[in-house]
Amino acid sequence: MSSLDRETLEQIAQQILTEPSNAYFFDDRLFSTHGAVLSWAEYGDDILAESNYRTALDLIRAAADDGRNDTEISDRHVIDGSSRHWAVGSLRTIYVQVREDYERCDFTGCAGAAMWWREGIETHTQFCEDHRAEYDEDGLSYEPVIPDFTAAFIEAAEIIVALQDYPVLDESDYSEREYERWHSNVNEALEYAQRDYEDDTEEQSAEIASRCDGDLSDLYGQHADGAVDWDTVASIYREARDAYFTELGNAHLNAPIAGQLALA
Ligand SMILES: [Zn+2]
Repeated sequence: MSSLDRETLEQIAQQILTEPSNAYFFDDRLFSTHGAVLSWAEYGDDILAESNYRTALDLIRAAADDGRNDTEISDRHVIDGSSRHWAVGSLRTIYVQVREDYERCDFTGCAGAAMWWREGIETHTQFCEDHRAEYDEDGLSYEPVIPDFTAAFIEAAEIIVALQDYPVLDESDYSEREYERWHSNVNEALEYAQRDYEDDTEEQSAEIASRCDGDLSDLYGQHADGAVDWDTVASIYREARDAYFTELGNAHLNAPIAGQLALA
């Protein structure tokens, strides 16, 4: 089912269920049944962290729901948690339920979780904490039930291992996000540059901006996380504007003035 062996899965389970020190969690599933897989500082600029987070969340939810027509399982097995963090503001964290739920106790009318089991021909093979006492009285031996890993956890473990080998989960998602961010940064920088020339008409501003396209494209990829240097954008705009008005001026000079005879 998984490309990872049992030992690796056990190790990762232990890792992600280890509660960070000095932390308080409002949800008591966290670090008991659900382990922390991946975090992302929501209001930061780290596009790769965002891309990996959203990709991982989709993959894990899909793995949980695989073969079903509802999302009940992923709703229970996958938590898209959000917490306040002193350094980064809001920290989003994916938590996954590591193991399947316990089944119900075999004793009639008992709703307890079957955390123990006993091999043999008895009717009550799996039983809860309360019924365990009866077996103790009879001096019978039993074993703890260890439920299977959930599909959500196995997918999460594969993602954790993949990220150790290569930092990008989905290359095209990442570059799309980076380009979008860069594009919106460029537009913002352009609008800012245009504020210095408020007397230009809308038509002129649009024409000058479109003449900047080539030079602006060259800026893509120069800075991490789609960042743009506003001074550079401002000087590209200034040059394009100078060129535009120079051309316009020349066109005026060369145009025949009304009433004047064109010189042959
Ligand atoms: Zn019971």
